[in-house]
Amino acid sequence: MSISDILTKSEVECIKKIYRGLIEDKRKVSSTTLAQSLGIKPPSVIDTLNKLVKKGLVIRKPWSYVKLTSKGLALAKEAIYHHRVLEQFYIDILRLEPDIACREADKIDYLIDCKIVSSLYTLLGRPMRCFHGNPIYTGYCGEKYEK
Ligand SMILES: [Zn+2]
Ligand SMILES: [Zn+2]
Repeated sequence: MSISDILTKSEVECIKKIYRGLIEDKRKVSSTTLAQSLGIKPPSVIDTLNKLVKKGLVIRKPWSYVKLTSKGLALAKEAIYHHRVLEQFYIDILRLEPDIACREADKIDYLIDCKIVSSLYTLLGRPMRCFHGNPIYTGYCGEKYEK
């Protein structure tokens, strides 16, 4: 399976940003900060957030910050794992510049099959951290989520 079985591209982008903000940067995340970091308009972010709420991945109350459910956390970690493995593959094997590797990984990280990500991860020597020093989470692939 791939993440695109569960989420659209804009939903994946959004959930990755929420996770990075909340967990890795330890700051509060709102639809406004998300719109800024995603470079899109607040109404489109709210639309995406509502879809993520409906899928049981995000908690969003009026006038409050955005949170992830436990299912949302697991899926965000999986999406970031896909992203960082692919990004690292582009950097280590294809010798792409990190910025370009990141941008290219964003294009397909949610489409690529979990088995291929796992093979790439092994090929790379099972790194614990990505080029930027951020953790590469393993063990979140292949879980069954209701659609
Ligand atoms: Zn990246
Ligand atoms: Zn996966």
